[in-house]
Amino acid sequence: MNCKNCGGAMELVATRGYFFCRYCGSFHFPDSAADGGIKVLEDLGTPSPCVVCRQPLTSATLDDTHDVRYCRNCRGALLRRTSFAAVVEQRRAWALDTPGPPVALKRSELDRKVSCPACTRPMETHPYYGPGNVVIDSCASCELVWLDFGELEQIVKAPGKDRGTRGLPRKIDGDSLVSGVAGGRVLAGDTDEDDLFSLLDRLF
Ligand SMILES: [Zn+2]
Ligand SMILES: [Zn+2]
Ligand SMILES: [Zn+2]
Repeated sequence: MNCKNCGGAMELVATRGYFFCRYCGSFHFPDSAADGGIKVLEDLGTPSPCVVCRQPLTSATLDDTHDVRYCRNCRGALLRRTSFAAVVEQRRAWALDTPGPPVALKRSELDRKVSCPACTRPMETHPYYGPGNVVIDSCASCELVWLDFGELEQIVKAPGKDRGTRGLPRKIDGDSLVSGVAGGRVLAGDTDEDDLFSLLDRLF
């Protein structure tokens, strides 16, 4: 299909189900694209720009539980790493569908440079060490994670023993059930929920 903005040929990002225009940077999401559990709330007064496309971020919830900042243009989301860990763990535990085929890590995504909306320092762009082979952006000092559209879905769809484990007793012997899901640099360590809350509030 051609870009509505500039007429250029749009590229299908097949693993995530949307189109991207390399000429002008426009995104196109088919009507069938899932909302990804995002609900947009009131617009913010002085919003921060999206780390990817610079459009203003809006306030939203993810899975009705977690406060996030969301870009309605590229559909990326900024969330606390504690929220990220909780959503991944819960969605995988509840996943009853067949896992998707393994998706290879796109090394080109590692070259991206984006800045943290909270502290403006460069975010760390690195492979997520949990399932799904996605490249994520995170800020260690602000404990924030940026997810592009479709990344969460790719993580939830990825095969693994922790899928569909809802209702089963949790293993606590250090095996992969818990650590495999919440594992990875971005999720290490304890966090203070109150601090993160006020940090996200101050952001906007
Ligand atoms: Zn275009
Ligand atoms: Zn954006
Ligand atoms: Zn930061």
